Amino acid sequence: MKIAVFSTCKYDRDFLQEYNTDHELTFFESALNLQNVALTKGFQALCLFVNDSADREVLQALKANGIRLILLRCAGFNNVDIATAAELGIKVLRVPAYSPEAVAEHAMAMILTLNRKTHKAYNRIREGNFSLEGLIGFNLHKCKVALIGTGNIGKAFYRILKGFGCMVVAYDPYPDAALIEEGLAYGTMEEALKDAEVVSLHCPLTEETHHMINADTLKLFKKGAMLINTSRGGLIHTQDVIEALKSAQLGYLGLDVYEQESKLFFQDLSGDIIQDDLISRLISFPNVLITSHQGFFTREAMQQIAEITFANADAFESG
Ligand code: NAD
Repeated sequence: MKIAVFSTCKYDRDFLQEYNTDHELTFFESALNLQNVALTKGFQALCLFVNDSADREVLQALKANGIRLILLRCAGFNNVDIATAAELGIKVLRVPAYSPEAVAEHAMAMILTLNRKTHKAYNRIREGNFSLEGLIGFNLHKCKVALIGTGNIGKAFYRILKGFGCMVVAYDPYPDAALIEEGLAYGTMEEALKDAEVVSLHCPLTEETHHMINADTLKLFKKGAMLINTSRGGLIHTQDVIEALKSAQLGYLGLDVYEQESKLFFQDLSGDIIQDDLISRLISFPNVLITSHQGFFTREAMQQIAEITFANADAFESG
């Protein structure tokens, strides 16, 4: 098949080329949107990532251009209007699970960094400052963690947290029997949040979960708690979170994902003034850590993404 691959950089082109089964790939660095949808003429399939947008208008243009298949090289699918794609007969195939450990390990790295402030200590030592001022952390051993969502990533993360001796209380509308067997306690969202030192989000972005962390739910957090979001930016109301940071209701914030991240994330804007007001405000807090949607970014995960993407393409071709 002739496949147009959007939002690519050298790092993922290498993996896609290496594991390509037999397709003709054309790479575009830009993210797909209504302005550049004409680029898809002459292709049968698209390969998209988290920052591409396939809303109703884009999908109608894709249909007119003869696109029959969208291969998502990610797990989340909130950037594609699935109902419209089905109505237009455009098949959407994703990579439902690829190395969930990659994202779970990144969530743990964010907790450890924010808690033990290794990023600050490193910068200080480079300046010759060996003082411990402001670096105090807390033990993760016996610390309560609220795990919101226990699918592939939440499950991998629970096992890591268990290894650290954390007391985990999870909320998921569909509790996992295997995790209950392993000792995981489930409760309501309120029960999970109550007295938790750390709250980590591992659920998809849907109409129901949009802004699930807002002024009201932040009031249920223990004062000074840590919030980690490696799932999707839209799960949290960023403005409300900024207010909670200001009042110290929220003690730490770790974001690998961010509302409207496609404008900034994955870009090298070194030397430019960051034009995004919310992100500039967030990074002005010393207790905020932001990474550029890199939770998935390990060699193992990239290999699995490429392999499953082309297995999806082959399955589509063979009906
Ligand atoms: P998954 O589908 O395996 O699990 C999601 C879980 O969330 C399910 O168990 C589901 O029942 C639960 N859930 C649904 N609604 C909920 C709610 N209101 N409250 C609590 N739980 C709810 O997904 P996954 O593979 O574990 O991935 C989770 C999310 O992580 C994805 O949707 C994606 O947005 C994100 N993700 C991020 C990266 C990254 O690089 N940062 C990489 C992959 C995935």
